[in-house]
Formats: sequence, structure tokens, C-alpha cells
Amino acid sequence: MKVLVINCGSSSIKYRLIDLRNDRVLTDGEVQRIGEGESRLQHRWTDALGEARQLARSEALADHEEAFRAIEAALRTSGSMSELETVAAIGHRVVHGGEAFQAPALIDDATVAGIREVCALAPLHNPANLTGIEICLALFPGVPQVAVFDTAFHHSLPPQAYRYAIPDAWYTEHQVRRYGFHGTSHAYVARQAADYLQQAPAALNLITLHLGNGASAAAVRAGRCVDTSMGFTPLEGLMMGTRCGDIDPAMLFHIRRATGADMDELESALNTESGLKGICGVNDMREIQQRADAGDAAALLAIDMYCYRIKKYIGAYCAVLGRVDALVFTAGIGENSALVRQRACEGLDALGIVVDDARNTADAQPPFEIQADGGSVRLLVIATNEELEIARQAAACIEGQS
Ligand code: ADP
Repeated sequence: MKVLVINCGSSSIKYRLIDLRNDRVLTDGEVQRIGEGESRLQHRWTDALGEARQLARSEALADHEEAFRAIEAALRTSGSMSELETVAAIGHRVVHGGEAFQAPALIDDATVAGIREVCALAPLHNPANLTGIEICLALFPGVPQVAVFDTAFHHSLPPQAYRYAIPDAWYTEHQVRRYGFHGTSHAYVARQAADYLQQAPAALNLITLHLGNGASAAAVRAGRCVDTSMGFTPLEGLMMGTRCGDIDPAMLFHIRRATGADMDELESALNTESGLKGICGVNDMREIQQRADAGDAAALLAIDMYCYRIKKYIGAYCAVLGRVDALVFTAGIGENSALVRQRACEGLDALGIVVDDARNTADAQPPFEIQADGGSVRLLVIATNEELEIARQAAACIEGQS
């Protein structure tokens, strides 16, 4: 079964055609900077001789429809259209499913209306996701399409974890609660961890740490998420590339009174000028580590803060879960930064979390383990693959329908 996965953002479209018989990527690519003058298209495929090929082009693409047409042209050039003709489903990443969507949903009028209803909760993402869905409905009539929600894995949170201690009406009338994000990634690595450990998901308690540009932690009991660090929006929780993570909301009142900054400026500062970038000026962990190696005090502080915050969440989720079988590191930083893994686990021996330096710094490809002999918690490094998870969930959804 072949599934086309679409991740349509406000100024970008990523696509990947996956053959689920062997999890092979048949073709993939992305268009970036849509509507920003010069857009950039990259398209990758394997030719008839088995050679990896790539096409890169810059052109003005005014909107998502033009971008989809450019993708279609690239697919024709690479001879991939015939593969698309046999696609069994299209899986769309949708950032916010609100309280209504607790699982992947076959796209029909009711699903589209439901996604539109939660646009107010994710004004930057859901409208773009919907645009992608609507264009694909027109481009591929008759192909079943499925919405896979970033929030869905967290629907199992109990009220004590998802409610905030705020006026009740903020929740009942305005839907303010913890939703959690990165759910597709947490779900994928939790299952991969179970496979790796050769255990049923139901037998395991896990802490999953998605450390990419965005970052979040999840406490997973017996395959079900019971708490997660991102909240009403992806701003809460761990320190991120450019997002602040946990803060005292009262600082906003202070900054507003002190500087006159308006809501949009405050929102933008916390989303795009904070996190690692706020502390040391850059958000790329590789560059920060290089600067830290050269003795840069701001970079050293940024790493200290970043790892300290992860450590606090590990401690909190150990308390939430009671027993932890494994801790899972994933995404760009989790998979690649031995320094962050080591610093985040430092001093947690009493919890059974002990990193082995040689295993942690070995040049291994995930999946691999980094715990010291005698540590009771398995420490796993697992590569995330959100597109594959979306493809699998989309396929399961249409199989469930038929
Ligand atoms: P996104 O959330 O955009 O998908 P990624 O999961 O690709 O992001 O993670 C990007 C982050 O991973 C960046 O901060 C990057 O510097 C970091 N990263 C990638 N490779 C390494 C590495 N070898 N060492 C340290 N950090 C790395």
C-alpha cells in the first residue's frame, strides 16, 4: 500500500510518498517560502537504475495552489506520477484536533468542518493544513484522505494533567486546557521503543523526549500518554530553539507595562526570539555547542538551562509514572547531541538513570542504548519518523473504515 503524506504549513509544503510494504520512501520533497517572492522547490526520487536523484528549483510561487502545481510538474519530470496513480490514501498532518479529534479521521465534510472549528486554537497552522486538504481533494478525487492530528496521542491525559488552575469559564467557554503537540512523534518512538525492547507497549512505562527545534516531553504509561510538556499551545514546557517553554505569565504584564509592547509583539517575542536564541543569539544546537567549546559564556548558559529544564521534566515524569522502564531521546538534538543527553541525565543516579560515556558518544546509528551497566532505566536513542507514522495511521484508518 502506498500512502502520500502531506505536511502543509503556512509558507511551506512537505510531501513524501511511502510504500508501506517495506516502509520505503519512493519520492519526497518540499516547497519553501511560498508567497515570499522567490520560493524554493526540492524534489527527490530514485530513478529506474536505483540512483538517488534530486531536482532543486527557485521560482515565484504566489500561493499553495501554485506550489502544488509545481510539485505536480516535478513529479511528472521524475516519472513519479504513475506511482501516485496507485496511491491508496493521502495522510495529512493537522496540528490541532481540539477535544473533538482523538484519533485519525477520514476526511469528509464533517471532518473539514471540525478542523475549521479548531482554527481559533491554532491560527497559524490549521488554516494552512486545511488549504492542503482542500487542494488535494480537488487534485485527487476518489483517493481516501485522512487527517492525522499532532494532538491526538495526548487525548488520554487525565483532567488533573490537562486542566489549568484558571477560572473554569476559560476552559468551558474558551477551550483553554493542555492539548500537547508532537503527538505523532511521541507515539512513533514509544512504539519503536517497545519493538526495540521486545515488549508489548502495555508492559512499559516510558518518558519520551522529542528534542528538535521544538521540544517536548511525554509520560507514557502502558502505551497511553498521561502527561506532556506542551500545553494549550506549543509554547509551554521545555526550553526550545526560539520558544521560551515554561515561564511565569505575570512577566508579560510587567513587560507590557514597562515597554508598551502589544499582544502581537509579546507573542512573537516568546515564539521566535526566546529559548536558546533568546539566551545566546542562535537557535541551532550544533553552533551553540561549537561556541560553548570555544568558551562562549552565553552558549554555555544556554546549554546549562536547556539541559536543566529537561532534567526537571524527567524528574517530574518519574514521579508521575512511579516506575520508568525507559527514557527515549529523539529528534535532531535528542538523536545527535551526546552532550545534551549526558547533561540532561547527570545526577539522576538515584532514579536509576545513569549514562555510559562510551556508549553515549559512540558514533552509532539509532536505535542504540546509552545506559551504564547497572542503571535500572534503559536509555534509548531512537530516530523519529513522523511521516511514516502519519502514513501508517492513515492506512490503519482507511482499513478500519472498509
Ligand atoms: P525540526 O524540529 O525543525 O524538525 P530537528 O529535529 O531537525 O528540527 O532538530 C534541529 C536541531 O537539531 C537543531 O538545533 C540542530 O542544531 C540539532 N542538531 C542536529 N544535528 C546535531 C548534532 N550532530 N549535534 C547537536 N545538535 C544537532
